[in-house]
Amino acid sequence: MSAMGRVPEVYARLGVKPVINAQSWVTMLGGSLMRPEVLRAMDEAATAFVDLAELTRAGGEIVARACGAEAGLITAGASSGNLLMAAAAMTGTDRAKVDRLPDTRGMKNEVLIFKGGRNSYDKSFITAGAKLVEFGSSGAAQPYHLEAAINEETAGLAWIVAPFQSYPFPLEQAIEICHARGIPVLVDAAAEVPPVENLTRFTRIGADMVAFSGGKGIGGPQNAGLLAGRKDLIEAAFLHMFNLGSGTVGIGRPSKVPKETVVGMATALELFLESDHVATWAGWRKQAQHIVGRLGNIPGLHVVIEDGDINRQGPNAVIYMESDWKGPSPAEIRATLAAGDPSIRVGGGGYRDEINIVLVNVQPGEEEIIADRLEDILRG
Ligand SMILES: *Cc1c(COP(=O)(O)O)cnc(C)c1O
Repeated sequence: MSAMGRVPEVYARLGVKPVINAQSWVTMLGGSLMRPEVLRAMDEAATAFVDLAELTRAGGEIVARACGAEAGLITAGASSGNLLMAAAAMTGTDRAKVDRLPDTRGMKNEVLIFKGGRNSYDKSFITAGAKLVEFGSSGAAQPYHLEAAINEETAGLAWIVAPFQSYPFPLEQAIEICHARGIPVLVDAAAEVPPVENLTRFTRIGADMVAFSGGKGIGGPQNAGLLAGRKDLIEAAFLHMFNLGSGTVGIGRPSKVPKETVVGMATALELFLESDHVATWAGWRKQAQHIVGRLGNIPGLHVVIEDGDINRQGPNAVIYMESDWKGPSPAEIRATLAAGDPSIRVGGGGYRDEINIVLVNVQPGEEEIIADRLEDILRG
């Protein structure tokens, strides 16, 4: 729904109905809503030509500062960031190698990944021609498994940080092992901001590159992302995007970032840094409290607020079904909510088959619509 609770004309014309997004910054529901200042900045960027390389470098400096890194780059999203990280780790700034990808002959081309940390986005690490090589089992790994997996072909270590992701051992330990062998550590932290501290966290502990989505919690364009890290590796990523002076466009070309997007992302990032994170969080918590308050005391249900540890995005209202619950199953509840008008999309749980209502994208007042509908469904 729009903030005003009506169907925006542009969607009505296409016959597409907006949804209430209580599922977080998921791509398939549109990421996030950009603030008016971001949209205005993008409009303004569209009124003049610029040297895109110069603009990209200027945007990169804002990213570097925000992430406490040597260098930065505005990418076309975290998946684009993963592609560029793997490409940069394989080629460095060697132009002949940059030209050659996705043919990796003559380069280290193996990117290590914890077997239990595989996720649906990790294909982006192999798009540039790398091979993913797993270490450990789907359940666990010890530091010596990582050490044993490193060989002459190892270009980097991919490390995914995400809700409900499992980690074999602390990232700090992985960094220590990799750095002892000169292997760069590439972190996909796409959806880990907020909290704002996570912008600098991975660089601070020594990750060589880290990728974030721009269109999730930071509120930038959905086709934008941030890449931060070591100067030489970010320069390599830049070459993969543009490869200036070479006859060949780079492997990063399909994820080029237009001037409007660079400006929109930089503006969103600066607004995000300046925003009152405590007040934002408190607002989400209040919405969660409203839902929990309305659904308390239904026999068979345990309804609580879970407040943004690593596995939740912002405060969530979470509905657990007890063994004596006689009502509809979580899948039925989700389907009923989605089929309604307006369609309400809620989270798919994580720990058990719980229902989780994520407030980060729930517009003011929509928490009441969600509570009304859930009361109907759950009080039967
Ligand atoms: C969302 C996400 C991505 C993809 O991010 P985009 O910015 O949409 O490209 C990659 N990895 C993880 C862990 C994600 O959550």
